[in-house]
Parts: sequence; C-alpha cells; structure tokens
Amino acid sequence: MTRKIVVTGGAGYIGSHVCLELVQSGRDVLIIDDFSNAHPEAVNRIGALAGRKVDFLRADLADHGQRQAVADKIKEFGADGAVHLAGLKAVGESVAQPARYYRVNIGSALTLVDAMEAAGAKSIVFSSSATVYGDLNQNPVTETGRTGATNPYGRTKLYIEEILKDVAAADGSWGVVNLRYFNPVGAHHSGRIGEDPNDIPNNLFPFIAQVAVGRRDELSVFGNDYPTRDGTGVRDYIHVVDLAKGHVAALDYLEKGNRGATAVNLGAGRGYSVLEAVAAFKRASNRDIPYEIAPRRDGDVAEIYADPTRAKELLGWSTEKTIDDMCADHWRWQSQNPNGYAGD
Ligand code: UDP
Repeated sequence: MTRKIVVTGGAGYIGSHVCLELVQSGRDVLIIDDFSNAHPEAVNRIGALAGRKVDFLRADLADHGQRQAVADKIKEFGADGAVHLAGLKAVGESVAQPARYYRVNIGSALTLVDAMEAAGAKSIVFSSSATVYGDLNQNPVTETGRTGATNPYGRTKLYIEEILKDVAAADGSWGVVNLRYFNPVGAHHSGRIGEDPNDIPNNLFPFIAQVAVGRRDELSVFGNDYPTRDGTGVRDYIHVVDLAKGHVAALDYLEKGNRGATAVNLGAGRGYSVLEAVAAFKRASNRDIPYEIAPRRDGDVAEIYADPTRAKELLGWSTEKTIDDMCADHWRWQSQNPNGYAGD
C-alpha cells in the first residue's frame, strides 16, 4: 500500500526537498501551502524531478475560514501521516510581531492536528529547531538538554512541540516526532530547487550565496569576539537533502507503529565557524566573498552543534554530505537561478 503524506509548507525551502525525497521513497504527497514565502514554480519542479505530479492545495492553515476545506482535502486524499513545516520563520520579525507569530504558527499546527484526527491519521513529523535549546547547554547538545528559546519564533517551535506531546499523551494512538533541525543549507544536487528568500536573507548561507553571485556587496560577520576558535559563531550546518531524508526516516519510524512523542536532533554533529563557512563557499564557487566584521546580532549564541546519536539509534539516520557538498550544491542552485524561482 502506498503511504499518503500531507506536507504543509511543502513548496518552501525545506518542504520542497522533503516532498522530493518522500516521492522518491514511494509515497504519495499532498502539499498544503499558501505560497506566502514559497513559489508555485517549486511545486512544478518537484514534479519534474520526481517524474510525477504532486497534489497540492493552496490554503492558509491559520485562517479559520479555510479549516474545513483543509480537513476535507486531507480526508479525500486519504492521508496516513503528515510532515508539518508551514509557519513563519524570521526571528527578527517574530520579535516585532509576536502575536502574529503565535497566531499563525500555533494556529496552523492546531488546524493540522484536528484535520489529521478527523481523517484518522494520527502521525505527525514536526519541523522544530535547535533554537529550542537557547544557550542553556553544553555542546554537543542532546535531546534531554534543557529547552528555553530566546525569541517568539523559537517559542512557537517549543510550544508546538509541547502541544504535540500533550496530544500524544492524551491519545496513545498518536505518534509524533519533533525534529530539531540544526542549520539547513545547500540545495538539491540538480540545482532545480533551493532556498529563495523573499527579502534580504537573514541566514548566513543565502546571504553568502547572494554576495558570491553579485546580488549583494558584502557579508556582515556578526561578531568576531565570541569564545570560539576564530571568534565567529559556530553552527552545525546540515545539507538540506540529508535533512529531508531525516523526515523520511522519521515517517518510517512512525509507520512501524511507534507511538508517543519523541524529539530528535537532525544535525551533523560538528560545527563550522562563520569564517570557515565563508572559506568553504569561496572554494566551491571560485568567487570572492567580501566581508566586514559587524557587531554581534541580538539573541545569537556563540556555538551550538548536535549530538546526533538518537537519530542514528532510533531512526537509523545520519548525515552523508560534507560542508563542500553543501557549498557546491548551494552555489549550483544560486548561480543557475540568480533570482530564485521568479526568473531573471
Ligand atoms: N551570520 C553572520 N552574518 C549574516 C548571517 C548570519 O555572521 O549575515 C552568522 C550568525 O551570527 C551565526 C551564523 O552566521 O553565527 C549562522 O546564522 P544563521 O542566521 O544562518 O543561523 P542561526 O543563527 O539561526 O543559527
């Protein structure tokens, strides 16, 4: 029997890679996306890469008026499980507009839970984040480490994890995996799907890539006085295709009948500094990447990287790709699509 998986936010950066891996694993996919921070062209390209079209519903999960249509579509599709990625994700914006972030992110998760419950498909893989660890733990961080996000965006991730835990505690037929992503970067090897930020990129890799391609003059390195090997922030970068495969492994785990709620880190288990990432991208792109040292960014931690042991033990998953793969694939996407999905 072919498993049918709903992917909310399936047209976005991570979602598009997750959908492709799911189709390639033999599953049927229904994308639900409102295209507020994604492009419909991504859906076409997923279909082209996968060799078959994927179903999609354009809907805003946080809009009460659309809840019934979402529930009806999920039932009609015959969903067996869901990967929930839809949500707002800009940290700075979340600080300025907290109520909107809570309403959209938490409201969307609740809509999905209700719709899956109504369809009798009680399995959800949730896109959480390492941001739930705040700055509270020793590296490498394990899932049993203390949680405590430092901004409203991070708190929506934490609260949704807690909500899903409550849902699973209330009804033993629910299975939930809260995937705590470290820093997803890179793109599909084909160069056809990748990250296409709406605005000025907040994250390091899309910013570096836009500098390399000439869309921006220089990178600001946020702080070089952290207690790290070169003073710049250290993160656990993970290739988005490895990350996407982690979702397939989490669904495999749930489909085996594992129930209850479990948090799992998706990271490589090693960190790179900002300057090391810049050097790697320079090698991969053969372009100059001018940078200046700027003040620290509010809310940034000095260093965080995963202990990925649980992912290996529970899901049989670990990363395969290197920082050079991440940079080469990110660069292929950026250089072949300098203006993203919108074209030139
Ligand atoms: N960073 C930077 N310049 C930028 C964007 C990010 O120096 O324009 C640094 C940031 O301070 C952090 C690292 O790059 O040390 C990764 O930042 P990103 O926003 O990509 O991820 P997160 O902070 O969520 O881990």
